[in-house]
Amino acid sequence: MSTIDSITLIAESLKRQGIEYVFGIIGIPIVELSMAMQAAGLKYIGMRNEQSACYAAQAIGYLTKKPGVCLVVPGPGLLHCTGGMANAQVNCWPLIVIAGSTFQDHEGIGGFQEYPQVDAVRIYCKYAVRPPTVASIPSHIEKAVRSATYGRPGVSYLDFPGNVLKASIQTDAIIENYTHPNPPLCFPNGEDVRKASKLLKLAKRPLVIIGKGSAYARAEHSIRQLIQRTNFPILPTPMGKGVVPDDCDQSVKNARTLALQKADVILLLGARLNWILHFGRPPRYAADVKVIQVDICPEELHNSIRGAVGIQSDILPFTDQLLKEMGNYRMDMKSDWWKVLKQKCDINSRTVNEMAISTSVPLNYYSVFHHVQEIIPKDAIIVSEGANTMDIGRSMLNNVLPRHRLDAGTFGTMGVGPGFAIAAALYCRDNFPQKRVICVEGDSAFGFSGLEVETMYRYKLPVVIIIVNNSGIYSGLDADTYKDIRSDGDLTQNTPPSALTVETRYDAILGMFGDSGYFVRTITELRQSLNDALKIKDRPTILNVIIGPMSERKQQSFNWLTESKL
Ligand code: ADP
Ligand code: MG
Repeated sequence: MSTIDSITLIAESLKRQGIEYVFGIIGIPIVELSMAMQAAGLKYIGMRNEQSACYAAQAIGYLTKKPGVCLVVPGPGLLHCTGGMANAQVNCWPLIVIAGSTFQDHEGIGGFQEYPQVDAVRIYCKYAVRPPTVASIPSHIEKAVRSATYGRPGVSYLDFPGNVLKASIQTDAIIENYTHPNPPLCFPNGEDVRKASKLLKLAKRPLVIIGKGSAYARAEHSIRQLIQRTNFPILPTPMGKGVVPDDCDQSVKNARTLALQKADVILLLGARLNWILHFGRPPRYAADVKVIQVDICPEELHNSIRGAVGIQSDILPFTDQLLKEMGNYRMDMKSDWWKVLKQKCDINSRTVNEMAISTSVPLNYYSVFHHVQEIIPKDAIIVSEGANTMDIGRSMLNNVLPRHRLDAGTFGTMGVGPGFAIAAALYCRDNFPQKRVICVEGDSAFGFSGLEVETMYRYKLPVVIIIVNNSGIYSGLDADTYKDIRSDGDLTQNTPPSALTVETRYDAILGMFGDSGYFVRTITELRQSLNDALKIKDRPTILNVIIGPMSERKQQSFNWLTESKL
């Protein structure tokens, strides 16, 4: 009679369910499990902080539509991971988290790293379980993967006590299990599609908003066809960028505020009316705007405002059916609506252009991004985080391909950048070896997970990290003011909470590997070092770009958030 170790059973079950990547940090009791995973042919990437491991695993889920696994130790290891789990759940990205837990005969008497783990993470998950027997492990792994990927994607958690990880079982005792088919496509109700097409045809000022649900749905081909055929103006959300190329004629991303405010009919494809879209409410939208909302999750329909039509559907079949319903309809690009939008786009581009072409030192955000955009490959995956760095970078750095932008997302999480970049670089290594990953970080954002450059180095991942360094959170201080303010008194009283050490040499971190990065103050240095950095193919590199500590963004008509009225 043959037997199998539970660690081998776990590893082989994951492999069988299509899992390819595991990100984690080992320790008791999961050391052997990590090795069993490698033996089963899973790719294991050892990270430096569980949060980053969890960010990397969820980015793989978004990029490949197959969840990555995050493997962590009990107690603190899993709790470090919860920030990442919440981020994945809020972003609707598939993810599997596996943690070891204390030996069951130590439960209740203060076992090592003992914690009520399944209960503690349940609110971050669609499915959380400690498989009750070794025999049921494969079926719970199947269920975990299915729960993470079917319907609205999200997080599954599997808990394995130390004694379970040490057990073995006779193979014929394993409970019957299987692999599930790909998630079912959810088709729209035909009547609703006709209603939607009627509204769109009658609209005077239509607008299509493309969210990251469209990107996840792999609906780019149909959406591009729809837009080219109808000439509807489009506005992507941050991670909806690239589903339709940013540089296409129909993009009105440079007239975002006006487009949202004046549209009379909005087709919302895989985006929630949350803070990113100002809740769909006045003053950012017309009070009588008619929203046609398409989402895979029915509970999301009519959230925040009552839509004109709420359609539960996968974006792909909906778009295909809408294309048919629209027939020969085509918007005139010389219509009043298009004229107003184009005019606004032109005005905004001109305002930005003045700052963008400036070469004065210290540099400003716009001048840095203008040259970065000129130099980086058009098909690069752009990872971005930070406050101004991410916001301004979003408008200045184009995406022409879907799922090529990863950022702080719906949860606004800082610290995601390096983990996302590691996942993206592995994804490129294994699928598109020529494609580059550019990780654009604010100096504050970089601080959260910066040491993951060691992980990049160990796995030879050629991520180009550009740190836009204004020596602070939001804004910093210049060297003289920084020194003056702190010259006497208590540093905890006189150092502004927003300040970081002036002109910190983040590039010097690479000295850990006997390497060096680039310290950049001028446009010439920026262009030269970025061109050089792109030639490096076997390790990460850092451009530490010093900008004015008070470098500002252009005047906005609204605060970045529509403030609460409470
Ligand atoms: P964004 O950040 O781009 O505004 P959100 O994360 O707020 O986007 O919204 C994405 C929406 O897309 C979620 O409500 C999710 O349920 C939905 N979604 C995810 N996958 C699909 C799909 N395949 N088809 C339709 N909707 C989807
Ligand atoms: Mg900063």
